[in-house]
Amino acid sequence: MIVAIDGPAGSGKSTVAHAIAEKCRLTYLDTGAMYRSVTAECLRRGIDPTDSGAVTQVARTTSITFGTSPQGQTVTANGRDVTAEIRTPEVDRNVSAVSAIPEVREAMVELQRAYGETGNVVAEGRDIGTVVFPKADVKVFLTADPAARALRRAVQREGGDAAKDANATADPTEVKRILDDLNRRDQLDSTRKTAPLKPASDAHHIDSSTLSVDEVVKAICSLDPRLEAALMEPRS
Ligand code: C5P
Repeated sequence: MIVAIDGPAGSGKSTVAHAIAEKCRLTYLDTGAMYRSVTAECLRRGIDPTDSGAVTQVARTTSITFGTSPQGQTVTANGRDVTAEIRTPEVDRNVSAVSAIPEVREAMVELQRAYGETGNVVAEGRDIGTVVFPKADVKVFLTADPAARALRRAVQREGGDAAKDANATADPTEVKRILDDLNRRDQLDSTRKTAPLKPASDAHHIDSSTLSVDEVVKAICSLDPRLEAALMEPRS
């Protein structure tokens, strides 16, 4: 089965998709990490992220693989570990320009669909329910108010977890920088011509601003009996 989770930056998609993958034994596909890997590879080679020809060439020739470590998901681009590099402010600043290039999207969507063919996948991104897997079994559009999203990201960057600690705080200057970046990326991602960020017409909308990760996971699993059954299963 395919579970598609779309939504703006910092809405909690990664945490929730990861938790569903683990609890329901699905493969987790972080499509944002793929666009970030192409961006990191371009920056490393000194390629201008708006040079569509050169960026497309990088997208078509970069092999992206996912792994796991005790700290969570790992990502490699052409065999190089880019797990930390793809989360830097420089990649944040440039990834929307890279992901707006239609040929880059074509290359990524092809890889993402190949993952889908392996069977049971929970994929998160911006266009999963609209473009990548329009026939997904479950489609969710996850949102949260911008202040909550910025705080979560800032706490996460400082090594904490706002989902587990309701009183978590972060450096206000950093929260403001992240808020500006999220708003700018959302604006670029929702107004681009190809596969803009928007809910599929048949997506279930969930606002995670005041919900815990467990509550969002339960809400999503309640949308499909197979997910619900997997969630109830005792784990050894
Ligand atoms: O999800 P994340 O914030 O890591 O995504 C980084 C960027 O990748 C987004 O701001 C967007 O520009 C791009 N993206 C996309 N389509 C997806 C996933 C991510 O355009 N399916």
